[in-house]
Amino acid sequence: MSWQEIEGHDRVAEMFSRAFSRGRLEGSFLFTGPEGIGKRTFAFQLAKTILCLSPDGFAPCGECESCRLFSLKPKPIQDETVSAKKTPSAKGRRAAPSPAKPDEPDEPAALAIPNHPDFYYVAKPPERAQIPIELLAGPKENRGREGLCYNIFRTPYLGTRKVAVIDDADTLNEESANSLLKTLEEPPRGAVIILIGTSPAKQLPTIRSRCQSVRFLPLSTRDLSEVLIRRGIAADFDEAKRLARYADGSCKNAIEFQNQSLEQFRPELYRNLAQERVDTLSFSKRVMEFVDEKRKEKDKTSDGEIKRRRLALVLSRAARFYRDLTRVLTGDTSPLAGNIESGTELRQAAKNRPDPDRAVRCAERTVEAIEQIDRMGNLAYIVEAWLADVR
Ligand SMILES: [Zn+2]
Repeated sequence: MSWQEIEGHDRVAEMFSRAFSRGRLEGSFLFTGPEGIGKRTFAFQLAKTILCLSPDGFAPCGECESCRLFSLKPKPIQDETVSAKKTPSAKGRRAAPSPAKPDEPDEPAALAIPNHPDFYYVAKPPERAQIPIELLAGPKENRGREGLCYNIFRTPYLGTRKVAVIDDADTLNEESANSLLKTLEEPPRGAVIILIGTSPAKQLPTIRSRCQSVRFLPLSTRDLSEVLIRRGIAADFDEAKRLARYADGSCKNAIEFQNQSLEQFRPELYRNLAQERVDTLSFSKRVMEFVDEKRKEKDKTSDGEIKRRRLALVLSRAARFYRDLTRVLTGDTSPLAGNIESGTELRQAAKNRPDPDRAVRCAERTVEAIEQIDRMGNLAYIVEAWLADVR
């Protein structure tokens, strides 16, 4: 990860870069902006830069002991928050790393927590509604002698600086916030404390007034597409662009669109596509039922737009299915083949439809159908014509 790989936040990076080059980058910051736009990634990169022992301008050298430790044996976020809860002491942070959950093929690799002695990370444990005070100020019996607020005042292990990131700051309750106030107001020299929340309005006034506010904006479609590809969420630029267009600049939204709404429908989609002859009439009806389904949550987007979005999702998955089928049929073992999902349906499809050229043509025809979505009003017609051709 380098600054070049952090998309869409040049303005904020520029601001920190100026403060850094003047030797004035310290104190408490409150990062706000919608979820899933890269605030945490940015905070980690900033921490790596600050902690680097021989930074190259406003960039970590990538080679010093600090940079090495920052990238070493990363731990998935999920595990950190859990282990931090059990052992909020500094020792707890040294727990052995464990691999990310393998059972979620569509999740991007979890953003790893850097494992660095002068870096602290606190977040809301998944099973809790708020950040427990223990993580910040130590357990009751040892209040004030453990936890982030204590650790950040200890002498730095490597260089002269320390960085702490407090994630999920929206969930700080009054007690936890109060335990932080003094540290936020007068952090140790050279230390940087970053709180990450969604909006300034969701922070307690006592917190807000003690931090320098840094607002992050949603990513542009182009920037988000880059992120989706880099993180393996989209298989190619077309898919990335489609997802990005409907995600309001948030990587999290893009993943949700891709996963949740479609995941229930995907097995049926794949089963049908795997058949020797797709039943055009009845299956196009099913596709349109999925497309027309009303969303429960409130959504500013117009009905027509939601339908186009949902059809684009279905067709994106279908295109991926045909691409994966092509790979299976041609015995492709390239790294991309690692993305292949739903082995059962693919094996079935490979048996029923063994011609790789045909799979390629189906993939192309599916992409064509996706392109028609914005040009043609009649979605049902697009689906019927598409299914008639790929069957
Ligand atoms: Zn370095």
